[in-house]
Amino acid sequence: MKKIALTLVILSCFFPGINLSAQTHKVCGNMPDFDTSSAISERRHAFENAVKQTMQQGNWIFSRSPVTIPVVVHILWNKPEENVEDARIWSQIERLNLDFNAQNLDLEQVPDEFKPLMGNAGIQFCLAAQDPDGRPTNGIVRVPTEVRGIAGKLDQIYYSALGGSDAWDTERYLNIWVGDNTTDPGTATATGYSSFPWNETQANSGIIISLAAFGKNTSESWSMGRVGVHEVGHYLGLRHIWGDDSPPSCNDDDGISDTPSQFFFHFDCPDTPQQSCGNSNMYMNYMDYVDDQCMVMFSQEQCQWMNTVLALYRPGLLNSTVQCVQNPEEPLNTPFSIFPNPASRQIHLNFPGTVAEPGDILIYNALGHIVFRKFFILRSGITIDLPELASGMYFVKIGKSIEKVIIHP
Ligand code: ZN
Ligand code: CA
Repeated sequence: MKKIALTLVILSCFFPGINLSAQTHKVCGNMPDFDTSSAISERRHAFENAVKQTMQQGNWIFSRSPVTIPVVVHILWNKPEENVEDARIWSQIERLNLDFNAQNLDLEQVPDEFKPLMGNAGIQFCLAAQDPDGRPTNGIVRVPTEVRGIAGKLDQIYYSALGGSDAWDTERYLNIWVGDNTTDPGTATATGYSSFPWNETQANSGIIISLAAFGKNTSESWSMGRVGVHEVGHYLGLRHIWGDDSPPSCNDDDGISDTPSQFFFHFDCPDTPQQSCGNSNMYMNYMDYVDDQCMVMFSQEQCQWMNTVLALYRPGLLNSTVQCVQNPEEPLNTPFSIFPNPASRQIHLNFPGTVAEPGDILIYNALGHIVFRKFFILRSGITIDLPELASGMYFVKIGKSIEKVIIHP
């Protein structure tokens, strides 16, 4: 609570014009403790030194076997509509898997100067199929509650007896708490919060995502589930890319050498380039505050850092034997080809060897935005009448299969 209040004070100080009740910007609750005399600050320094040392020795490489982190999602709901469908929960897991494996289509948005720095964390996530006692589960805990404004109620949401939901063994599971986070008029709405590896307990290790920003949703600024990506970044030891120093300056940074020093955070979808501290800023990084559709990458060193943190501080997740739930919406695996290509207002699809199968056909533009979506019975010779599209490269996606198509209307 103190941390969130601190963030808001900082926001209010530097953006006195912001109407916090109406703002649609991201506000993450995570700020490291900069009181250098505090025990937490000492633990953070010890943590950062240990991670750096392990990375310098190159030891992080050996821990980087394929890893799947079992997740339990605690849905804290009050109104029936807050008890979200499984599909939305799966969409959050899917987003983590895309972004932590550099499989997000919108990675193409990264400006050329930062493309050589794009990283792949190589970390998978799944809903846990076994609870801490080994009993079968779908990895989702649904708890009716009177607790509102969850990110400001940290003392309650982690405890079933107080209207929250007790964590599952935090050494073997990543706990994600989701709930309504609207508060009284005139107060801000934090979009997420995470424990840091150097500052957490068995009860509160994990992340919180405001329901409004959870999974795929219809909001303006956090519709893609990337608040979850940002918070898992914190959970795996990353700090905000601008370094969190208060007041903002160029003196402190995030401790990561391939993210250029940056004065403060960015909101919305900034133009390229954004400059401060004598650098072009990597504002499209998941650890900045830009809108979901504009944050698209981790840097290479951030990915090394997270893998090192897993090995050093969360080894129970690396070695977890908890089984995964099979995604009921597991995408189809249906290769296809497009003709003609380039195309103008119409494309046809062929499916070698595919008999009739139902499936969605999606078309994305180069920014990763869906420009077309329709349900089809997938058969060779399907014709798609395209909407009006600007010239350029598009991606047709069916299940796991993706093909490029050039459109010249
Ligand atoms: Zn944050
Ligand atoms: Ca940096």
